[in-house]
Amino acid sequence: MTSLPAATSATRNSRPQTSLTVLRREELSPHMVRIIAGGEGFSSYTNNAFVDRYVKIAFPQPGVAYPEPLDLWTVRETMPREQWPHTRTYTVRWVDETARELAIDFVIHGDEGLAGPWAAAAAPGDTIIFTGPGGGYNPDRAVDWYLFAGDEAALPAIAAAVESLPPEALGKAYLEVDSDADIQAVAAPVGIELNWLLRRGTPAGSSELLVDAVRNGEWLDGRVQVFAHGERGYMKALRDVFFVQRGLERSQVSLSGYWAKGRVEDDFQAEKQLPIGKI
Ligand SMILES: Cc1cc2nc3c(=O)[nH]c(=O)nc-3n(C[C@H](O)[C@H](O)[C@H](O)COP(=O)(O)OP(=O)(O)OC[C@H]3O[C@@H](n4cnc5c(N)ncnc54)[C@H](O)[C@@H]3O)c2cc1C
Repeated sequence: MTSLPAATSATRNSRPQTSLTVLRREELSPHMVRIIAGGEGFSSYTNNAFVDRYVKIAFPQPGVAYPEPLDLWTVRETMPREQWPHTRTYTVRWVDETARELAIDFVIHGDEGLAGPWAAAAAPGDTIIFTGPGGGYNPDRAVDWYLFAGDEAALPAIAAAVESLPPEALGKAYLEVDSDADIQAVAAPVGIELNWLLRRGTPAGSSELLVDAVRNGEWLDGRVQVFAHGERGYMKALRDVFFVQRGLERSQVSLSGYWAKGRVEDDFQAEKQLPIGKI
């Protein structure tokens, strides 16, 4: 839970809590579920301008008595840290301000964890509470081409980014998923080549496909902007591809571990704060 800031009036105001009701649940593929949420609480949600906007979803701990209704900032001000709800980070795939609803796509990765199993079983009427959104990436309109690379955890952010590009945009996207049933429709400009990399049963985070595809893939002329997000080991290997093999500048690359094989998000996010955990 070290990913959570201490509760101050500044963080309370800059990262307001939103409490939404699950409206619909869509099976996008064998390994991805979309939760569409809205309701009265939507008025607390303030969208931001980043295409990779993300929220931190709260999962109350069983056996802990929380104030009702749950107010995350009050919890952080009044309860010991070890009792705070766990948080999991998720991209907001789209926001419909008119319908007053938003969508979050969850990887279904088995019985382990909190968010994946929650989404697998979520039903209309359930509550989802989060803080945010944060974010950090937008396509730079001045570059010659775009490179996207990620696994299914980054697919919502990459899809949102690709769909935000102008029709004349050029580039390549490398997307690692399990099987062809996990390929999703992404409304990409005609000049953005979508390369789907299929693990075919190799566990997520254990394949060489994504890194090899980027390392050996065609490199277009001109200045590139990179958005590479996904499993931590993949991102460490891609760091070398971008900065050593290709000699890119730091400002050209958005690179971030979204999850780590064998580690729950609490541990993974805590590691990210340490020098050893930085990519
Ligand atoms: C900015 C940001 C945006 C993100 N956006 C999304 C998003 O839109 N959709 C999405 O699904 N994820 C997204 N993620 C990744 C997500 O936060 C992690 O996958 C998280 O660990 C899932 O929580 P959990 O409770 O399901 O599993 P945890 O309790 O964290 O982990 C339990 C076990 O599951 C494994 N695990 C976790 N995630 C995966 C996975 N994707 N595939 C296989 N095994 C896994 C862990 O290694 C661990 O062994 C994002 C992460 C970040 C930082």
